[in-house]
Amino acid sequence: MKLVAKRLDVVEPSPTLAITAKANRLKASGVDVVGFGAGEPDFDTPEHIKLAAKKAMEQGKTKYTPVSGTASLKKAIVQKFKNENGLVYDESQIIVGTGGKQVIYNFFMATLNPGDEVIIPAPYWVSYADIVRLAEGVPIIVPTSISSDFKISPLQLENAITDKTKVFLFNSPSNPTGSTYTRKEVEALVNVLLHHEVLCLSDDIYEKITYDNLTFTNPAMISEAMKERTFIVNGVSKAYSMTGWRIGYGAGHPDIIKNMDTMQGQSTSNASSISQYGAEAALLGDQGEVEQMRLAFLKRRDLIVGLLNEIKGIKCPKPTGAFYVFPYVTGIYQTPGFKKLIQSNPGKSLSKIFCDHLLDNYQVAVVPGVAFGDDQAIRLSYALSDADITKGVSRIQKMVQDLSS
Ligand SMILES: *Cc1c(COP(=O)(O)O)cnc(C)c1O
Repeated sequence: MKLVAKRLDVVEPSPTLAITAKANRLKASGVDVVGFGAGEPDFDTPEHIKLAAKKAMEQGKTKYTPVSGTASLKKAIVQKFKNENGLVYDESQIIVGTGGKQVIYNFFMATLNPGDEVIIPAPYWVSYADIVRLAEGVPIIVPTSISSDFKISPLQLENAITDKTKVFLFNSPSNPTGSTYTRKEVEALVNVLLHHEVLCLSDDIYEKITYDNLTFTNPAMISEAMKERTFIVNGVSKAYSMTGWRIGYGAGHPDIIKNMDTMQGQSTSNASSISQYGAEAALLGDQGEVEQMRLAFLKRRDLIVGLLNEIKGIKCPKPTGAFYVFPYVTGIYQTPGFKKLIQSNPGKSLSKIFCDHLLDNYQVAVVPGVAFGDDQAIRLSYALSDADITKGVSRIQKMVQDLSS
């Protein structure tokens, strides 16, 4: 008897979650692991948000809510878009889900027909391509590189569009590269998109984490015409250090929202009622701690970029957003020690060999670039203390030394 469906054959388990799990297992067994793997802030959720959730529990707000979210949270989201992005939405254009990830999943389930193409610039967040495949769409991966700051050019976008293209996926600041598009760059992409009948999914989850005076811009903010064909996904996980609360939200055309509501109503129903009250407090409350976290990330970015670039064979661009660096390690692939590792690991991708060797022998967890569509790089999250960043990078340095001799 065949126990499992073919549906999942096209999908890979999330490699970032797998590496974090392995690092955590090692930690639990007493090994001193430095974890650069996890894609989440290391700060505690701000106190006023926790208090709002406690109060919601005490007041008995522990029952089903409308599938697409409480009226008061939707109102707060509408406010957020108006105040922070200058975007006007009606509450019928908002949906609240169990994390940004579920919103992305339901968006593709609600919009794609079998064979519809989705343009995804690489390096990309690990889940995009797999979610598109689950929704019977076809991911069209457009590679970008360190030389273009990991950004897709208008010409690349134009060339990737076919009569099957349904969605262009835009993620700025980006996970895994930290690259952030300037307003001018977004405008140039919008100019291309407006000449075609293509939707844009804008993943704004790192909106609040930008550096170097770069102001956040998404395609919907460029023009009313573009806003009408853009679907925005955002959430509280990264901005407010609330990854475990599982609240994300989306904004877009009411027909899409209606389909997503049906999809959600037949799968998970509403996101946790208690978490929704927490998220409301996050959006409406004091934003001081968000800025504190951003400043801490900024300091750590400068620290880790400086340290990594001191290592021979590593080339680390300075990202303008999020909390990841995506250095190229191709110089290390050329060392005598690494060439031996390649021979003893036939068929394995190089960035995976690099990361497995690093975790198994030097107790440092990082994610192989191949998981994001670029085997030349590795991804390190710098959501950890200065001391751990310094310790972890010096272990990488030690590995490189050992491989070079
Ligand atoms: C973390 C992340 C998300 C969503 O996270 P949730 O916890 O599900 O809200 C979406 N997109 C990117 C690029 C992310 O890194």
